[in-house]
Amino acid sequence: MHDVVFANATVVDGSGANRYQADVAIDGSRISAIGDAKTMRARLLVDASHLVLAPGFIDFHSHAEWNLTLPDQEEFLLPFLRQGVTTFVGGNCGFSPYPVDRHSKDLVLANSQFLTNEAFEFAWETQKEFTDMVSRSGTLLNVALLTGHGSLRSLLKGNDPAPISPFEYSQMVYLIHQAKESGSYGISLGLSYIPSMFADMEEMRCVFAAAAREGLIVTIHGHTYSWISPFFSDSTDSDELAVAHNVRDIELFIKLAKEEGTKLHLSHVLLKGRKTWETLSSVLDTIDRAVEDGCDITFGVIPYHWGNTLIKTLLPNWFLENFECNSKDADAVARLGCELLDMEAKIGRTSDDLILLWGGESDALALFEGKTFRQIAHERSIGEIETILWIIDESDGKARILTASYSGQEGVYSDPLHKLLSHPRSIIEIDAIVTDTSGPQTPAASGAFPRLLGTYCRKNHLFSLEQAVHKITGKPAERLGLADRGSIAIGAVADLVLFDPDKIAEHASVGQASSDGDGPTVLHVAQGMGPVGIEQVWMGGTKVVENGRNVLKKRIGAVIIN
Ligand SMILES: [Zn+2]
Repeated sequence: MHDVVFANATVVDGSGANRYQADVAIDGSRISAIGDAKTMRARLLVDASHLVLAPGFIDFHSHAEWNLTLPDQEEFLLPFLRQGVTTFVGGNCGFSPYPVDRHSKDLVLANSQFLTNEAFEFAWETQKEFTDMVSRSGTLLNVALLTGHGSLRSLLKGNDPAPISPFEYSQMVYLIHQAKESGSYGISLGLSYIPSMFADMEEMRCVFAAAAREGLIVTIHGHTYSWISPFFSDSTDSDELAVAHNVRDIELFIKLAKEEGTKLHLSHVLLKGRKTWETLSSVLDTIDRAVEDGCDITFGVIPYHWGNTLIKTLLPNWFLENFECNSKDADAVARLGCELLDMEAKIGRTSDDLILLWGGESDALALFEGKTFRQIAHERSIGEIETILWIIDESDGKARILTASYSGQEGVYSDPLHKLLSHPRSIIEIDAIVTDTSGPQTPAASGAFPRLLGTYCRKNHLFSLEQAVHKITGKPAERLGLADRGSIAIGAVADLVLFDPDKIAEHASVGQASSDGDGPTVLHVAQGMGPVGIEQVWMGGTKVVENGRNVLKKRIGAVIIN
């Protein structure tokens, strides 16, 4: 007699292998038996006929660790759980709320502002103290942590852009050793963000080499995701480059990984701006060649044509540092206009690709939620830069936006995104940033994985259901070395999702209706509506979600230690 049996389930076990019919039994927190359908006895029998039983989904790219110490963490994490996520990987893009000291705390918080809720407070310094605190207060989801290079660098030299000294080099090596000792799974670089962006080749090599020695993966948010970028010194007015900058960036990381023997993961590979879409084959060729050369490489893909962020991230640091004065200074606004609009034109992005998701508490902005910046500018008869500044001012900097044109355009052209999602080395990530639970959130927070299984698998036939499930279960687990997770096998932790493969879909739907960039963009975000087709979610042998509702009012997740 087993504790629980899922009877007559269609098992998609997370390995990519073909589905099969079976009874799956749980005893305690683990899977204890897998047998012929309709043969097992249990105290609780779950009729899984016509449903798929898969391992709990793993979000390989999250920033939700910033929410784990908030008293109301459930509000932030529940949308992910409802879409089947039982484990997330935090500490991405160079950011982690640890390790800090009394000098670096304020800087780390300021640098990470777009990831944090107002109530966030440090009550720890080391990663171990953070982990212990989360373990004590509980977590709704299981979490595996990376350590942000930005936080390590802040400890050594604040926001100082100068190269690290030989002494700081050895300190960095020691900090990476400590990260490993604290249970970290890897080091993340955030090369578009202060202060991780200040790492030169020498410092990046230090991180790659030290991580390799500790057996840690290195994950990277790159210097650029566009074909041309000010980061590379040959940025000219030329419309052609020998090698596109986004491709050069990837080549650089591959070179380091090969030379230092580092396990490499490129976070959220995407092609930003219409003119960057053409670099798809170069990006994939570069990765394929690296694989052939024996480089240990994978990459992440977000299953959308946009990402979400706070509006202020659109502006350069020089403007933000003195925002109050600059926004009233005609010369500064003009310079901002030149910088922003020039780069947008070069990469092929327009104000049609910026969508207002939430305008903070502003009544004036509420009218414009779901609209593009071009529409807002048009309706208010102001320019594009003035629109950005108006929204920042009106929302007190809180406005949430979607930035589109990533690897194609929704409803118009999806070939680059489809090829990235289908590539054998890609792992699907959610990367939804939820800093505040009021107002519309990015559709990814509630629907990314159901969208993968519904839109991209069932409707578009990009890959089999087995492959799709593998990319959000067995593959991320294997990549990080999460023992006993991401698979349906005897002895594995019973984190499970039961879903209807014919119905599964993200509830929220978003469509960019125009093909030429002139028409309206319509954003329908169904607030509070979870995905469709997720019947049950189980964690460690306990049912946590049924019919979209959290049925267990307890935090039973764990911090998974490397
Ligand atoms: Zn990132």
